[in-house]
Amino acid sequence: MNRAEEVKKRRTFAIISHPDAGKTTITEQLLLYSGAIRQAGTVKGKKSGHFAKSDWMKIEQQRGISVTSSVMQVDYDGYQINIVDTPGHEDFSEDTYRTLMAVDAAVMVVDSGKGIEAQTKRLFEVASHRGIPIFTFMNKLDRDGREPMELISELEEVLGIDAYAMNWPMGMGKTYQGNYDLFNNRLELTHPEANGGNDFLPLNEAGELEGNYEVKNSPWYEEAVENAQLLNEAGNPFDAEAIQAGKLTPVFFGSALTGFGVQTFLDAFVDFAPAPQAVETVEEDLVNPLDEQLTGFIFKIQANMDPRHRDRIAFVRICSGEFHEGMDVTVARTDKKLKLNNTTRFMADTREHASLAVAGDIIGLYDTGNFQIGDSIYSGKHKVSFKPLPQFTPELFMKVSPKNVMKQKSFHKGIKQLVEEGAIQLYKTWHTEEYILGAVGQLQFEVFQYRLLNEYNSEVEMTPLGNKIARWISKDQLDPSMSSSRNLLCKDRFDQPVFLFENQFAENWFQQKYPDVQLESLL
Ligand code: GDP
Repeated sequence: MNRAEEVKKRRTFAIISHPDAGKTTITEQLLLYSGAIRQAGTVKGKKSGHFAKSDWMKIEQQRGISVTSSVMQVDYDGYQINIVDTPGHEDFSEDTYRTLMAVDAAVMVVDSGKGIEAQTKRLFEVASHRGIPIFTFMNKLDRDGREPMELISELEEVLGIDAYAMNWPMGMGKTYQGNYDLFNNRLELTHPEANGGNDFLPLNEAGELEGNYEVKNSPWYEEAVENAQLLNEAGNPFDAEAIQAGKLTPVFFGSALTGFGVQTFLDAFVDFAPAPQAVETVEEDLVNPLDEQLTGFIFKIQANMDPRHRDRIAFVRICSGEFHEGMDVTVARTDKKLKLNNTTRFMADTREHASLAVAGDIIGLYDTGNFQIGDSIYSGKHKVSFKPLPQFTPELFMKVSPKNVMKQKSFHKGIKQLVEEGAIQLYKTWHTEEYILGAVGQLQFEVFQYRLLNEYNSEVEMTPLGNKIARWISKDQLDPSMSSSRNLLCKDRFDQPVFLFENQFAENWFQQKYPDVQLESLL
């Protein structure tokens, strides 16, 4: 194997969108085009029940939301595409945030009837903060939506990124004739049968269609020609470097449901999305994808994907080197040495043994408690630690205890695992060590409670503490008498002290009383 060639073929990305914009549907189309599945409707239990193999998905089905992110690897046109799915619901944005640390590009799916929605904006900001390229798919053109020009300006204004229209819709909904493809200088037609059976028709140098085709009689064609000229003169120029730097988003119109425009999108995506890049370590060294040493980091841990096996899988993003089954690695956090056996690759609807993987790939390691979110692994002697994954400051808190005191053991085991997975954050009150859970969104608690019962057979008592402002304080500045009824003193899972302030007023009051104390938040 030529490793450099292999790495060049990798495209690892996540799809970000507001719920219902069409992420699942477009994922299915990607799988269809890659030949990984044969018919739409097979990706998620939500749609067909086909893929709903495990317990943890039940809660997703019940609520119709996607709680966890999954990984799929497919071939497309000679490329190895790794799609990392992200939960769309904002309550799980921390999980999404970590996932975005493991990809090299993002695809943003926008419902053209709705434009930029709250969760699109939030996820865009995360992806943009990382400086990864963002490709935009304006979806649902088979329905009447907003004016394309309006959608593009909204994108630029609300998200603050320049846009380049790769193509332009001719009509929409019932009148949708297809796309005027500026980038490839051609038309892509929704009704090829009415135009001599051609899906694509080339345009001349002036950007116009020659010959006699029905689409030319459509007012939408005329309008698209005018708009294309306008965009060519006044719009942002196409700039592959700006795309790679995340400063310009190429915009594609289409319909995930009918599959229209998806292939054009994919073809451009594999051309302009980057292959795996160098990754920075805590020492600020760069690990190059072609370095000999195998390195990677764990961005997600998922327990009990298969209830029959009670397994726990750590998802590793490989950053350099070449993975082989059975190789030895060290976990940077603990210096523990492990042999990588029983590793998994995630295909469209199956899992298979991972025998070989390179930078950009994501493999699953069966975990018996060796890994935590954010861990780095490396082969050989040179220690490599990647930068820690960001954590959100939780805003909602719950006291939690086992209903049945005789079942302490499963309660503790369940909490420990779910916390290591990053599903929820755990605190203890400073003196009495009562358990307090911290979350970014309410649904995290519900998933926690459900999973503790279903996976660990532990029923829990939960008492809401409501919204709090969590602020960390260094141990040498701490005096436990600083704690009062308005600022509950706790320790996090690394035993670092943290105050949970009742509200902003309580924090301000505290700061006035102890002006020298430095209070810190997470992200
Ligand atoms: P997700 O929540 O982002 O994964 O969205 P889904 O892919 O589940 O889509 C949400 C709903 O929108 C479903 O009912 C889809 O069938 C529908 N949908 C997705 N893409 C399109 C599209 O291109 N056109 C139309 N008309 N509906 C779509």
